[in-house]
Amino acid sequence: MKDKILEIEDVTVSFDGFKALNNLNFSLDVGELRVIIGPNGAGKTTFLDVITGKTKPTQGRVLFKGRNLKSLPEHQISRLGIGRKFQTPRIYLNLTPRENLEISSNRQKNVFATLFKHSSSAERKTITGLLETIGLSSNADIRADKLSHGEKQRLEIGMLVAQSPDLLLVDEPVAGLTDEETENVGNLLLALAESHSILVIEHDMEFVRQIARQVTVLHQGSVLKEGTIDEVQNDPRVIEVYLGQPLEDTASEVQHSSEKLETLNIGNSKL
Ligand code: ADP
Ligand code: MG
Repeated sequence: MKDKILEIEDVTVSFDGFKALNNLNFSLDVGELRVIIGPNGAGKTTFLDVITGKTKPTQGRVLFKGRNLKSLPEHQISRLGIGRKFQTPRIYLNLTPRENLEISSNRQKNVFATLFKHSSSAERKTITGLLETIGLSSNADIRADKLSHGEKQRLEIGMLVAQSPDLLLVDEPVAGLTDEETENVGNLLLALAESHSILVIEHDMEFVRQIARQVTVLHQGSVLKEGTIDEVQNDPRVIEVYLGQPLEDTASEVQHSSEKLETLNIGNSKL
């Protein structure tokens, strides 16, 4: 059996009685790249929140490398090696990509100390390598506000990696990106997956197809289905969840259904 980096056991999160997560069971192998999908309100963000400690389970437990996170505050969980990328990039726009990465790899020091001290040659090498990995070598020394949206996303993923987490949590990394940038981010995550465990939440099914080996479908706070992308897209319950939600009237039904098909990207062939 492979080592688990993350285990979620019977986790329920209740908000005033409403179960955003409902007896959720999930595990991730060391070194695995997993994509989580699910309709709006399925519990995806709450799922990440219980891993980072932002939200504590009402019941059940979350284990990271076998350690129960129950009594740990968010910043300590982060220090154990869990890094989270939020949907909108959180980078220093008035600094260069290189400086942004330097700051991230020196979290314990403040911004000024990082900028004005001379970094060691080992540190410079790591940053140079990381700039290459995220495809920003040629733009390493321009102000970050000049970067495209996709380049900013890649920079933020790089900043996450600079903190050397073992587990990367990435929330909708390609929302609003062009097709080309989406593919770039996909390739970056695939490259990072060689040395990290990664959990990605994503709606864009073409992107999911590009990067996913195993997909987990969340629905009403529980795991509805796990499998390859083909297994998931052909599962009647998954199709039902995406297409069978109550719709207001028949006129909007046609439109809604085709929109949802589009989201699942199974419109052309699978149905
Ligand atoms: P997703 O990210 O899959 O869209 P969320 O995890 O954000 O879903 O939310 C799951 C459900 O829990 C939703 O119905 C949402 O309204 C509810 N929920 C999330 N956070 C809270 C909260 N702090 N208080 C009350 N309800 C919440
Ligand atoms: Mg969400």
